[in-house]
Amino acid sequence: MKRPMKIDLKWIRNRILVWYRKNKRDLPWRRNRDPYQVWISEIMLQQTRVAAVIPYYERFLERFPDVDALARAPEQTLLAAWAGLGYYSRARNLQKAARKIQELGGFPRDYSALLGLPGIGDYTAAAIASIAFDLPHAVIDGNVRRVLSRFTGERGNVDSLAVRNRIREVAGQILHRKRAGEFNQALMELGATVCLPKQPQCQLCPVARDCVARQLGIQNELPAKSVRTSPERVDKELLVIERAGKILIWQRPGEQRRLAGFWELPEPGQLPGAKLSGPVGQFLHTIVNTNFNCQVFRATLTIVPQGFRWLKKDQIDDLPLSTTAKKALACLVTPRL
Ligand code: SF4
Repeated sequence: MKRPMKIDLKWIRNRILVWYRKNKRDLPWRRNRDPYQVWISEIMLQQTRVAAVIPYYERFLERFPDVDALARAPEQTLLAAWAGLGYYSRARNLQKAARKIQELGGFPRDYSALLGLPGIGDYTAAAIASIAFDLPHAVIDGNVRRVLSRFTGERGNVDSLAVRNRIREVAGQILHRKRAGEFNQALMELGATVCLPKQPQCQLCPVARDCVARQLGIQNELPAKSVRTSPERVDKELLVIERAGKILIWQRPGEQRRLAGFWELPEPGQLPGAKLSGPVGQFLHTIVNTNFNCQVFRATLTIVPQGFRWLKKDQIDDLPLSTTAKKALACLVTPRL
């Protein structure tokens, strides 16, 4: 049920901003408001933890410091810089968008034009428009959704369209329109560091006084979500086949939905003639809702079928290599049996 906001919004906004200025983490993308840098950070942060993004972000900006450098980068170099972050369509869309920005003659400066770039949806357009250009658009990510559903005592399923729309409305009401970028970051930071998914730290929260979930003692029950199915477990075997200091690898076709253009180690099903000579490691790798249980074996092979290549280790390092292949090769250095 919609709860009218009868609270003092000005007080709430100021409390959140003051708290943010005092408590925000020093993150590399918060050091300036350059639209290119804001854009790169927002795309990297989708589905990826802050700590994991930081080294990628810094290396990416060193390698591709502006739109032009990104637009002219060879795809394999771009994917190699992204390797390990996952969701590789993000990197490809970044490059498509960089080329479109060149055609447009500069970075779009409003929400609708930003939405026209490949890979940019509501969330990213609102983030760039507000953080880089201070335009009054509310940014709603998982953190903001959690804070606002608890703050308003929203008991409906946050994955449903109706609740998403209600939260969007609240986010628009609460937004500090003159300091939209800073306010959006403050609300996201509150969700990331205080209004935590499992144990919200209400005693540290600047808006605890007006939070409905806290008043009712139901902060641990919200946000209400649909029940998730447990992850599927898939066993996978990977082969390390070496010859004269080179390793046998293959490249996924460019039109594949997952990991297109990435390089992989072979699996036994691809090489019926391979003879396994011993295990070198085992590791788990999770992609979305699947847990891959990977076992790595050394193997030998007499006849190499088409589609495979022998490459030296230092040549492989410059290629976009899948994370499972990287983890498997790491087992050669540190066996994990
Ligand atoms: Fe979240 Fe607690 Fe703050 Fe409410 S009081 S917004 S539940 S941290």
